Amino acid sequence: DQNKFQAIISHCKEYGFIFPSSEIYDGLSAVYDYGQYGAELKKNVRDYWWRSMTQMHENIVGIDAAIFMHPTVWKASGHVDNFSDPMIDNKDSKKRYRVDHLIEGFAETLDAEAGKALIAEMEGLISKDDFAGLKKLIEDNKIKCSVSGTVNWTDVRQFNLMFSTEFGAVASDNEDDNKVYLRPETAQGIFVNFLNVQKTGRMKIPFGIAQVGKAFRNEIVARQFVFRMREFEQMEMQFFIRPGTEDEWYAYWKEERLKWHKSLGIDNSKLQFHDHPKLAFYAKAAVDIEYDFPIGFKEVEGIHSRTNHDLSQHQKFSGKKLQYFDPEINQNYVPYVIETSIGLDRCCFMVLSEAYEEQEVGTPEKPDTRTVLKFPAKLAPIKLAVFPLTKKDGLPEIAKSLIADCKKNFYCYYEEKDSIGKRYRRQDAIGTPFCVTVDHQTIEDGTVTIRHRDSMEQERIPLTAVKEMVMKAMMD
Ligand code: ATP
Repeated sequence: DQNKFQAIISHCKEYGFIFPSSEIYDGLSAVYDYGQYGAELKKNVRDYWWRSMTQMHENIVGIDAAIFMHPTVWKASGHVDNFSDPMIDNKDSKKRYRVDHLIEGFAETLDAEAGKALIAEMEGLISKDDFAGLKKLIEDNKIKCSVSGTVNWTDVRQFNLMFSTEFGAVASDNEDDNKVYLRPETAQGIFVNFLNVQKTGRMKIPFGIAQVGKAFRNEIVARQFVFRMREFEQMEMQFFIRPGTEDEWYAYWKEERLKWHKSLGIDNSKLQFHDHPKLAFYAKAAVDIEYDFPIGFKEVEGIHSRTNHDLSQHQKFSGKKLQYFDPEINQNYVPYVIETSIGLDRCCFMVLSEAYEEQEVGTPEKPDTRTVLKFPAKLAPIKLAVFPLTKKDGLPEIAKSLIADCKKNFYCYYEEKDSIGKRYRRQDAIGTPFCVTVDHQTIEDGTVTIRHRDSMEQERIPLTAVKEMVMKAMMD
């Protein structure tokens, strides 16, 4: 639903969630800035993930590794040689396309069966690295899918998605000597620290290491809002296990992660597993958790059974032993790994898509609509808005003292301008679950009106009960 997709993008901009980067210079493609409410939302999602991993699992600890890593890391991990996508340039428009995205675009214009057949054909060619075949497929289908005019394509070639930069000030004849990469994933920071953490934390297998941080990919197609960015944030966890136990742990994390997505308030029917049809040679299994975005079911998180591939590669390239002595079986081994890898920005986009609703809320006599973000209280940027009914009679003071009491525990917002109705609408649009109005009755009996965002119901409760009601909702 392109309309809903566009509506969410506009809403995010209008209400201070997400702005195009460097907007006054017309933006930078596939780079975004989080505004005042977006930054809170993102932080709440990140903190919630972090707590679910570390605080809720005695055998998972978190680290924070640097973005820059030794260049050999990316040789060992395979990214220098393999982290690339086939792409093609349109010589006339000078536009570059990722081949798979271009063909997926063609497929969308065909009927369902023909579209499926086209994708299957493409997947076959990609798996064989048949670039000539891909070019032919594009040329044949361009006509079928009525791309206007004749298009002059370049050959299909591989394009590495890693960004690189120079490190230090030493000039060198060989450019590559000073070349470092911006990490394209956070996982390698965990693998290279495996022994540091295991030893200093006295970790016993099975155990996990979690990390949240920026990752960078020079994505070729960049037109999907925060779904596909060139600078984004990942939340990854590597779970180190005894070889032979990978199937049970893979099953465990698959279910555990699905449960986590549901706990964000995501409707069950909008989540699905998608098994990877094509596995890397070392991988035992891989599955995506997909969400039904306004642009269709798409990956939010990957769960991968990766054997001991990464640690073995680092062992080989560094010459350092990366083994674990398992006292229970009296054996040394390179642990196997189950990985859970989720994009924080994609996750926020999922939460926003799920929360966004345009509702008819008026009566036949007085039609009215509202746009509401139905975030779970724990993720909402602002938890409580407090409004004095008028600016006089001591009402603002009472409102402000309620905020003073609550703001140590959660984010509050004070507002005294405009009608109460308008103030409610503004809070609905940023997803605030509770609004409290202080009026003259408050002075008499110490009660306030609390208004619930989703039901729009209002009830009178003691001023002293507000904080607890909000805190309780945040625990769900
Ligand atoms: P895709 O097929 O969509 O490019 P991927 O399979 O390459 O994704 P992984 O390498 O498994 O993705 O990365 C793990 C997670 O990181 C993804 O599930 C996604 O949520 C997030 N992610 C990956 N690339 C991007 C990006 N360019 N922008 C935002 N999030 C991303």
